[in-house]
Amino acid sequence: MCSMTAPVISIDGPVGSGKTTVGRVVADRHGFLCLDSGLFYRAAALGVLENQVNPEDVPRVLEVSKSLNLEFVPSSTSSSDVGVFNHGKDVTSTLQTSEVEAIVSDISKLRRLRLQLLEVQRSFISRGGVVAIGRDIGTVVWPDAQLKIYLDASLEARTERKWRQRQDAGEAIGVAEARRILESRDRTDSTRAYAPLMPAADAVLIDSSDLSPDLIADEIDRLIQDRNILDCC
Ligand code: C5P
Repeated sequence: MCSMTAPVISIDGPVGSGKTTVGRVVADRHGFLCLDSGLFYRAAALGVLENQVNPEDVPRVLEVSKSLNLEFVPSSTSSSDVGVFNHGKDVTSTLQTSEVEAIVSDISKLRRLRLQLLEVQRSFISRGGVVAIGRDIGTVVWPDAQLKIYLDASLEARTERKWRQRQDAGEAIGVAEARRILESRDRTDSTRAYAPLMPAADAVLIDSSDLSPDLIADEIDRLIQDRNILDCC
């Protein structure tokens, strides 16, 4: 189908499915911007931590999230490498910590928080030429995406990736602990009442367990070509 604006590709999936890495490869190949929507929720979680708010204190969590003033600034070398600024302060490196990950899924359950973050995601995506990554992009944020991918992988493969990320970040946690954290986040994300993690009805499911990011991006490129998604932009 032909769209007048440049297309949107959504990539949803659980923790450790590889969606951010793959999304960046696809975005770089096509000169698209990459919107990693997890960064919005992580920024809200960081605000909660920095303001010493109890994550269960819903009114205060909503206050913090409402006061965010986020900017996503693509680096000069790669359109998929985006810096995150809140009120002008670069918070990119602090969004990936285990402290943020410990509370992010709990606050992401809040419908009102999600609605606060929805418009800013939509306004970013509306420019087109975007690979948007998350849990609910194809189902809620941008149901008109020209191509929807749902990336998944075996629990073992996803645990291994998360464990490795933690090791690389200098945090010595065991594999069993990495698996427990991952399962807990996935459970919270997929059982929440509003915008749960799930594939859109028209999403293409890809299992990333045994595939490199480049091979998955090749598969996505085949889908882009088969569907003539780039033909009229
Ligand atoms: O993808 P990432 O690990 O950065 O996401 C962090 C958390 O943000 C997820 O575990 C989930 O709770 C929340 N999230 C969400 N909806 C999205 C993206 C992320 O609820 N679209």
